[in-house]
Amino acid sequence: MLVSLSLTPSFGFGDRLGLATPGHIAAVQGTKFAPIFAQQSVRENARTGRTPQQVMDDAKRAVDAAKWDSPWGADADHLKTVDDIHPFVEAGYTFFTVDPGEHVDNSADTDALDVLKRKAASFINWDYLSMLYLDQNSEQIWGNFDAVSLQRAVVKYDHAVWHAVSMFKRLSELMDIFDFEVSVDETDSPTTPLEHYFIASELTRLGVKFTSLAPRFIGRFEKGVDYIGDLDALDVELEKHAAVTKHFGTYKLSLHSGSDKFSVYPLVAKHWGELIHVKTAGTSYLEALRVLASHEPDLFLKIYALGRECYEVDKKTYHVSAELSKLPKTNDLPSLLNDFHAREVLHVTFGSAIGKFGVELKSVLVKHETAYYEGLRTHFEKHLRLLKD
Ligand SMILES: [Zn+2]
Repeated sequence: MLVSLSLTPSFGFGDRLGLATPGHIAAVQGTKFAPIFAQQSVRENARTGRTPQQVMDDAKRAVDAAKWDSPWGADADHLKTVDDIHPFVEAGYTFFTVDPGEHVDNSADTDALDVLKRKAASFINWDYLSMLYLDQNSEQIWGNFDAVSLQRAVVKYDHAVWHAVSMFKRLSELMDIFDFEVSVDETDSPTTPLEHYFIASELTRLGVKFTSLAPRFIGRFEKGVDYIGDLDALDVELEKHAAVTKHFGTYKLSLHSGSDKFSVYPLVAKHWGELIHVKTAGTSYLEALRVLASHEPDLFLKIYALGRECYEVDKKTYHVSAELSKLPKTNDLPSLLNDFHAREVLHVTFGSAIGKFGVELKSVLVKHETAYYEGLRTHFEKHLRLLKD
């Protein structure tokens, strides 16, 4: 049944084509993770031309056909404004991810101290916040605030906190029970564990009942590829984020752009334990392209050519670093789908590809549905195996 998943460990399967859920079901059944089978952001809906209702209907059809009778959720992902909320509530979504990233002041990380001080003093609640957060005497593994780190946290995140509060209030007027996630994962500057503490503490103090929080972690979590960065440093950092989460005990940590991060999963499993949510989306689209590469290579190559054409424009709202000049010289299929640069190029150009070749692409997937489901199952079982404790 479609329900709020609350603090159950959970795993989000975004499905941009609306045909992947049977493969997702095959991978997730028997694991500790409660699945999110419908998950799409406002940005994805715009690029795929699908509505929240269509995404929901596609997931429901597959859930009914598989007679899946355990809890599952539907995630209205990366909602940015109050106006984004309503169509998802209408369509029966249960999980609302609010992205107040536009209200985060990224320059707080590099502002000169006098600038930072001036900015902080302009917050009407600054005196109250300093009384609340300075001189906390107990030593905390995620660190303690001094004047500068508190100024930075307030300048960087306080407006975002208040935006999340207003989104929560609006949702509370429309629904009684729902999962509420606050995500700042797409901002330019990483969230320190101390800043994570500030965000969680303020949201809690202001009455927001959030069930997950997605900080922006150090290093690079790019789409559809493994982690780029210092794993030892990340190990230390993830442990501190987990300590903050356990301190509150009221929400899960959420890993966005969570697919294909095979080197990170053992760390996440070790530190986060049960307080975990993982989001994936485009990797299921790449598995669809893998079916194409094996069974309809001509269509695949057309999509790949279009991807190379559209990459520079389509990549603008994503964190990716692939370069067209570094694409493999020969198109070995399907192993091209394992190449870092090709994966990212194909990943972020999904909207252009679906716009032009969506109908053909879907008919190939229907024709080769067994191969598609099997590919998805294998791919996600690899994720879920590494993520269990
Ligand atoms: Zn995200």
